[in-house]
Amino acid sequence: MSDNECDHEIDLEDTDSNDDIEMAQVDSLVTDVEHYNYKILSPDQVISEMTKKIESVQLILEIPSTTTRILLHHFRWDEEKLLEEYYSKDKAAIFKAAGIVDPNVSKTKKNPRDSTEFCQICLNPFLRSLMTGLECGHRFCSDCWAEYLFANILSEEECLSITCPAHKCNILVDDASAMALIKDFAVRSKYQCLIAHSFVECSRLLKWCPAPNCHRVVKVQEVEFKPVKCDCGYRFCFKCSETWHAPILCEYLRKWERTAAEDSATSYLIEVNTKDCPKCHMAIEKNGGCNHMTCKKCNYEFCWVCSVYWAYHNVNYSCNRFVSAEAQNEQDISRSKLNRILFYYGRYVNYKKALERDNDVTNIVRDTITKFEALDMSWNEVEFLARALEALRQCRATLMYSYPFAYYVESCNQMDIFVDNQRNLEIATEDLAQYLERQLQKDSAVEVKQKVKDKTAYCEDRRKVLLNHVHEGYDKDWWKDNSLA
Ligand SMILES: [Zn+2]
Ligand SMILES: [Zn+2]
Ligand SMILES: [Zn+2]
Ligand SMILES: [Zn+2]
Ligand SMILES: [Zn+2]
Ligand SMILES: [Zn+2]
Repeated sequence: MSDNECDHEIDLEDTDSNDDIEMAQVDSLVTDVEHYNYKILSPDQVISEMTKKIESVQLILEIPSTTTRILLHHFRWDEEKLLEEYYSKDKAAIFKAAGIVDPNVSKTKKNPRDSTEFCQICLNPFLRSLMTGLECGHRFCSDCWAEYLFANILSEEECLSITCPAHKCNILVDDASAMALIKDFAVRSKYQCLIAHSFVECSRLLKWCPAPNCHRVVKVQEVEFKPVKCDCGYRFCFKCSETWHAPILCEYLRKWERTAAEDSATSYLIEVNTKDCPKCHMAIEKNGGCNHMTCKKCNYEFCWVCSVYWAYHNVNYSCNRFVSAEAQNEQDISRSKLNRILFYYGRYVNYKKALERDNDVTNIVRDTITKFEALDMSWNEVEFLARALEALRQCRATLMYSYPFAYYVESCNQMDIFVDNQRNLEIATEDLAQYLERQLQKDSAVEVKQKVKDKTAYCEDRRKVLLNHVHEGYDKDWWKDNSLA
């Protein structure tokens, strides 16, 4: 973690003035199976969550809050485990293991404030009132302490394990002492930031938003394979922090990414942006966008993914269904394996690119919104366009991840239904994409409103059908791992 990142996390003047930590508004586009209760926390709210937790445990244990924080950290912020062990095991052993002097044991005898003591580091004499020590009884002058903490905090990733400077003393520096001894603002900030960091890292129910430069934290009630949407707009899987990837499960997504990265034949596909027209063989370039291609030279219309004639494509043909050829020998088998991964990987990459390069359609939608607003339409009246774009992106993402899902699942009757659902979602998504890209700017406002709303609703519906079916399959154990993969 860089210092820079740190400054933001404890930045008390967070520009986000939204103090409201109500459950995040359910995204209007999520399906039932994606519904999830969570909160987005600002950096300040993370600290107050931590303080609340310390206070609640401290009330039960009746020990200083700063000691409670170290104990909680020792138990990885699992308060139930802490309380269970605290009341069932030897307390002295727990305190020792956590690096704390047992607060129940009588304190070391104190000399009068005006007596003289020797600092154990610089060996100079000081008035007792100018010396500080932890409960272990080792005492040092404030300059030596400041120097010691400064060096440790700035160099350590984990400032929570700073022990007393005395040789072989394992007692940890508590937060109250640390804050009293550190005068430098930057060092104090980093100290607080590291505490908050370890609190989030250790808490099962908290996760940093993975978007770059976003320092918000998502808090859930239950860890699940569900999407969360941060206030910064980033949507990710709470379980693995990757971009939301239904229908494929986290472990299979990781497997898929490894396979794809290792296979040179598949990575070759990433580079391909041009294809020859199936009729006149002129090279045609694709920049994101829909799969319906029209050759500029001969006007032949075809599908970018499978090269099939477009008029035939959506009627009698399943572009998304992999049909393996009969294998006669070893060579056939390995060719068929390669064809299979090329089939799924090619479609996956096609959606990945469509998502990454959707500037054209984004600009068209944005221009149309501006045009309609100039016609005195309010945001409420034009919002459906933003929603359509969001639906297009979500459908493309779902389709993208539906290919690795299909790749890893053994064929069965339910898989046939899945492939049909995938095809229907693909046709609906292509239809919406085509309308937005090619027709949106030609139609009147009234036509646009009706058509876009219908197409968006249809896409959302198809996406819901596909995801609900996959989810049902996970519940009922329909999806068997394909041994080919
Ligand atoms: Zn000293
Ligand atoms: Zn000590
Ligand atoms: Zn974020
Ligand atoms: Zn995941
Ligand atoms: Zn052509
Ligand atoms: Zn096709």
